[in-house]
Amino acid sequence: MTTPAVERSLVLIKPDALRRGLLGEILGRFERKGLVIEALELRTMDAALADQHYAEHVDKAFYPPLKEFMTSGPLAALVLSGDEVIAVVREMIGSTDGRKAAAGTIRGDLSLSNRENLVHASDGADSAKRELALWFPKL
Ligand code: ADP
Ligand code: MG
Repeated sequence: MTTPAVERSLVLIKPDALRRGLLGEILGRFERKGLVIEALELRTMDAALADQHYAEHVDKAFYPPLKEFMTSGPLAALVLSGDEVIAVVREMIGSTDGRKAAAGTIRGDLSLSNRENLVHASDGADSAKRELALWFPKL
């Protein structure tokens, strides 16, 4: 029998979710899945944090409007933990474009946009480590 790998993921419930009153709906899905909320803070991303967080995207055409959106209001920053949480949360949020994300996923059920898609989640062990250090350096 293999031992399940307990991991941590950095999750952001984006400003569109807070504006639309979907924080409870989205948090509830993570809670009902059995994931543990290790940290939860309302934060507003500034330009410098946006550039660091999205370092892989800063040169892309979609980045300026993405930065505008992500800094437009408060978001909820979370550390979630659980068995294989990184992959589990990516599955739960669905693919990037809300119009194409599968029904049953957060984006598939609740978003119709490829920018305002409600949730960010670390996409692998390396990005989780980097993003956790950026958002929750003391944890
Ligand atoms: P994901 O959040 O699914 O990991 P990416 O890392 O590719 O997606 O992109 C980061 C974020 O940038 C997306 O969640 C979305 O908000 C935005 N984004 C990505 N691609 C586009 C696009 N083609 N047009 C507008 N916004 C985009
Ligand atoms: Mg990504």
